[in-house]
Amino acid sequence: MQEKSEFLSERDVIDINALASSIADYYFPHGQIDPIVIADKNNITSSFGNYSDSFDGLLECEDNDFHIFINLDRLQQAYSERARFTFGHELGHYFIDDHRNSLLKGLSPSHCSFTGFKSKNRAERQADYFASCLLMPETSFRKYCFQKKFQYRIIQELAKKYGTSISATALRFCSIGNHPIMVVYAYDKKIKWYWSSSDFRFRWLKYGKDKLPEDTVAGEYFELNRKITTTEPVFAMDWFNIKYSHQAELPFKEHCLARDKHTLSLIWEE
Ligand SMILES: [Zn+2]
Repeated sequence: MQEKSEFLSERDVIDINALASSIADYYFPHGQIDPIVIADKNNITSSFGNYSDSFDGLLECEDNDFHIFINLDRLQQAYSERARFTFGHELGHYFIDDHRNSLLKGLSPSHCSFTGFKSKNRAERQADYFASCLLMPETSFRKYCFQKKFQYRIIQELAKKYGTSISATALRFCSIGNHPIMVVYAYDKKIKWYWSSSDFRFRWLKYGKDKLPEDTVAGEYFELNRKITTTEPVFAMDWFNIKYSHQAELPFKEHCLARDKHTLSLIWEE
């Protein structure tokens, strides 16, 4: 299993979630979190500009003053889901004590961030996790899911409610949702990462990360150029490495979002 939080300790996960939740609940006890307002209230200035490809976001500290730069060249507009997530990520570098202190002491250079769980750097993962917990606060997220039967629509509704991308929302659902799911991201037929709820029935993909299984909605998008936008039935053996033959035909569902060379599959058992 590709560990999406392999650089986060259990302590990190608990502490960062508690920190981000307390900030979210304090500034926005009801309604969607606006990270720009949180920055304003903490005297962090910000600018949205076109900075070519050098970073998604950046937190700078000069004479004890903090400033956040958001790069619209990479994140479309200021209120896009990715810009919001990046802004939340930069706030993480401010609110996580170690990050802020090392900036204040001039020990670390300004954080040039590429957000969205791409970085292997621990501080970057911590800031990504902070953004996810800040924008999708645990108590409210759980309350929304409570007693709702899982279907793809739930992820869409949550993403709309919190102003987050489908992938960020699905990953949050893996940790605190009320139904086990797996999320698989592939680029150009190659699996880049996958992640699942801790109680998801299967741990291993059919070919590991080496190859996208062909008899899946994502596989057929690449192999047969077939784009299906509805939730489709698949068998366990289509996606997973099956240990016992009686598990081969267990029915699962797959909902695949496909665009250009990207696919994002959500897989779950009913
Ligand atoms: Zn960063």
